[in-house]
Amino acid sequence: RIDIEQLTLSFGETTVLKGIDLSIEPGEFFAFLGPSGSGKTTLLRAIAGFGPTPRGRILIDGADIAGRMPWQRDVGMVFQSYALWPHLNVARNVAYGLEERRVARPEIKARVHAALELVGMADYALRYPSQLSGGQQQRIALARTIAVEPRVLLLDEPLSNLDAGLRVQMRQELLQLQRRLGITTIFVTHDQEEANTICDRIAVLSAGVVQQVGRPADVYDNPVNEFVARFLGTAN
Ligand code: ATP
Repeated sequence: RIDIEQLTLSFGETTVLKGIDLSIEPGEFFAFLGPSGSGKTTLLRAIAGFGPTPRGRILIDGADIAGRMPWQRDVGMVFQSYALWPHLNVARNVAYGLEERRVARPEIKARVHAALELVGMADYALRYPSQLSGGQQQRIALARTIAVEPRVLLLDEPLSNLDAGLRVQMRQELLQLQRRLGITTIFVTHDQEEANTICDRIAVLSAGVVQQVGRPADVYDNPVNEFVARFLGTAN
């Protein structure tokens, strides 16, 4: 469970998150949805421990994570660009985070295999990232994050580099994987259809403020203000 309380964050003079309050339930698939520049990525990075120190609090399962470095937060983040190591094969890419955490060798082997199985890439362990399609690289980025067994999964527009057809297919895979793992997940997107089809609840952001939180259908049916109505295209 994640509780965000009165989170405010500035880059120099510019305040980009303005008193965010949000609670995300255990096992929930939650989306930050909003236009470019609304602060979605900044909020996700703040949870992961990247970027300027915010004011306010972030609690994971009741514990304030303010003083913890990114790797001490028990969160796994998948970046928009995947950020795989080009000089390491798939297995080594997935093993990387485990090696950093000094997990024992036999366990690394088992976890890497299990993570690759989960994303349907067990046969690709010895390939290099340049030999994989965008969708396959995306799966490896996911496997790498899942392998460290984080408590929270943070996904920053993970499907945005894929072509339209693959994007739709990967949505379903992502949803199935999330359900199987039961891991609390935050998904950042500016694509309302994507959020709508895979997420339990959405938070609509604009200019660093949460405009509305709810189940996609409820937000669509009852937008609380003009901004939400326009953004979701439900304004008459
Ligand atoms: P996008 O969908 O385009 O990624 P976003 O909703 O994720 O947008 P953020 O990337 O969180 O938005 O950016 C929010 C605001 O913070 C923007 O106005 C952006 O210019 C500003 N910002 C982000 N990172 C920095 C930075 N390192 N230094 C200064 N300003 C920044």
